[in-house]
Amino acid sequence: MQLNNFSKITETDIFNAAKDNKTPFYLYDKQLIIDRCNAIKSMPNAFGLSVRYAMKANSNKSILNTISSTGVHIDASSLNEAKRAVLAGISPSEIMLTTQEVPMDEEREDLENLILKGMKYNVCSVTQYEAIKYFAINNNISLSIRVHPGVGSGESSTRNTGDNYSCFGVHLQNLPTVLADAKKCGVNFTKVHVHIGSGADPVKWRENIDLELSIIEKYFGDFNIDTISFGGGIKEGRMPNEVAADINDLGAYAKEKITEFYEKTGKKLTAEVEPGTFIVANSGYCVTSVMDKKRTGSDGLNFVLINGSMEINARPVMYGSKHPFYIVSAKGELMSSEFSEKTNNSSYEAVVVGRCCESGDSQCIDENENPIPRAMIEPEIGDYFVIGGTGAYCSSMTPFNYNSHQQIAELMVCEDKSIKLIRKRQTLEQLIANEI
Ligand SMILES: *Cc1c(COP(=O)(O)O)cnc(C)c1O
Repeated sequence: MQLNNFSKITETDIFNAAKDNKTPFYLYDKQLIIDRCNAIKSMPNAFGLSVRYAMKANSNKSILNTISSTGVHIDASSLNEAKRAVLAGISPSEIMLTTQEVPMDEEREDLENLILKGMKYNVCSVTQYEAIKYFAINNNISLSIRVHPGVGSGESSTRNTGDNYSCFGVHLQNLPTVLADAKKCGVNFTKVHVHIGSGADPVKWRENIDLELSIIEKYFGDFNIDTISFGGGIKEGRMPNEVAADINDLGAYAKEKITEFYEKTGKKLTAEVEPGTFIVANSGYCVTSVMDKKRTGSDGLNFVLINGSMEINARPVMYGSKHPFYIVSAKGELMSSEFSEKTNNSSYEAVVVGRCCESGDSQCIDENENPIPRAMIEPEIGDYFVIGGTGAYCSSMTPFNYNSHQQIAELMVCEDKSIKLIRKRQTLEQLIANEI
């Protein structure tokens, strides 16, 4: 049976993967990644659309190659990410770098080499602008600029990247000075970029389309802007009751506004989007095993202990995020799923915790850091406990070596349902290899 209505992964896929691989591991649905890329690529648009995958969501080489093979390009958030994409075989001309870093010394050399090979550089601060401007002028390279619009939206306050409490991009108040200097020196900006946050409210995402077009109109009259990037943050649903953004609606809205902009200014803008979460979040599952069960007294709580939690999915601890749970018996039957009525009506409720020596190591933490029990069919020790919606910001963003745990393996269910190992589990020797 399909575990949910996102992907075609079934309990049999989980069972087959777990038969030959020690838990915990990540399991990705390749077909869903491809489908999501194609869906985003066919969003309505006025004068062309280019899609960049925000690789920080999941940077595994096989995932990058899967995405790249659909014609989707790359958004890198650090110089190392850009280098890693190149190591995966992606051409620098398909990468844009949007980073808080100001590369110096050898890193500066690497940055320049990548830009000379075609990587697009997105200026994200006044300091970055000063550091890159003569290089850009001397090599006849056009730049992109990330604007901090003063408003943002995200799944939680720490995932909002557009308001006064975050410092991504050149703030609107600094923009006139930068652009006046750019005009004087002959710096060529051709792209304007705004990213308001991760998991943004679709209404806010729409509003940003208007805001960004008005920024281009108001400030960029002296430049030949040909591309408008709306950033990423397209909202995805992971839990049964969560609603994803309607990408056709967002695309249609952008198309209408970009067409109006053309009618007003005579300028045709190519649209660009940078989804990370939307492409990979629901493709991923953390497959763990139930190690133990406990109860904290008659007035306490039930606990289910699994062999991988905050060190493989830190999102609940970081953001209070909720992920769907599935329990597959040791024999391969689907016992519990939050996409089924039976599970949701179950009288058994438990807090799912991990193996880390950290009382916050739980998959059931709300935004106020309280443990909230979840309804499920009571698992047996030895059952597989599967955490869904873990394709984005899990493998790429966890404290995986805490308690000397090894970074876990990554597997992929291919289009023909065969299971491929795409990253081996780290060995204990690798974990200590650089210690002197
Ligand atoms: C993180 C990030 C994204 C992707 O955000 P998602 O919420 O994963 O879609 C896109 N663009 C930029 C600049 C980012 O920093």
